[in-house]
Order: sequence, then structure tokens, then C-alpha cells
Amino acid sequence: MTQVPSQPSAAPPGDCGVCRLHVDPTARHRWQIGSDGLWLLRHHPDPAPLAGWLILDAVRHLGGPIAFRPDEAAAWGGAVQRASWLVQALTGCERVYAIAFGEGARHLHLHLIPRRERDAATEAWAVADLYRAVASGTRPAADPVAVAELVARARGLWGAAGGGPTLAP
Ligand SMILES: [Zn+2]
Repeated sequence: MTQVPSQPSAAPPGDCGVCRLHVDPTARHRWQIGSDGLWLLRHHPDPAPLAGWLILDAVRHLGGPIAFRPDEAAAWGGAVQRASWLVQALTGCERVYAIAFGEGARHLHLHLIPRRERDAATEAWAVADLYRAVASGTRPAADPVAVAELVARARGLWGAAGGGPTLAP
């Protein structure tokens, strides 16, 4: 049997910002879209770089795919695909980027970023500049009202799909 390696860099759950968000009532109310037990989908908290910038978390505190259990490894591809479809359905973007560093919080959180062809600020690594500009306050964040409206629509799409992001294109 294959030994699943430990994640020596993963902080204990009590010190983890992602674990805290999962149980924080305000964060759940404002940004959480849904969870199927393995994965939790949420909108990027304020300040959000873009409306529709979603984040797919592992529910379990783990540092990245290297630490997946077999059931998590088997389910990950479908979860990423369905969450990406949701980003596209919500925003009308042409493409959806998927980026995970797991550095700010060493708990797997996959950024799903709406990429619009007409917006050069969202192209490839330019989106990292956009992210830093919003974080530093030199570029306005997404309108929280627009984000709230989008989260409400996302929950409806999630619920209509039967408790999980099972949207098809
Ligand atoms: Zn965690």
C-alpha cells in the first residue's frame, strides 16, 4: 500500500486561516457557496480582486494534492471542473485559470479566476499584478454588492444542481 506522505509544512488546523474561514459565521454567510463534504467552494473574501474569483478548498486541512487520500484524489478532477464551469456560468468569461500556491495559508485553496479576453489585466501573470494592486489598495476591489449578488446566484446554481457544483457547459 502506498504511504501517503505527511505535510510537514502544513500548520495545525487551529492556526490555519482557511480552516478558520470554514467555521467563521460571517465568512460563511458572505462568501461560502457550498460544500460536498470533501471540497468547499467560496468567493474570494473582500477585497476581492474580481467578481467571480472563486476558491475551491479542501475541507480537510491538507497542504496540497500530494497529501490527498485516495477518495480525495479520485474526486479532485471532477470538483475542479464543476467549480470552473460555475465561474464561467457566473461571469461569462472565456477561460478559467486555476492556480494554487498554498503559501499564504498552507491548506489547499485553488484560485479559480475568470479570464476575459478583452481584459489584458487578467492575462497570465498579469493577474498576479492585479491581485497585488487590489491587496495594496492601488486598484479598487470588486464591488461587494456585485460579489454578494454573484454569490447568491452561485448558491442557486449549486442548489439547483443537487447539492454540488454539477453544472455542465
Ligand atoms: Zn487548514
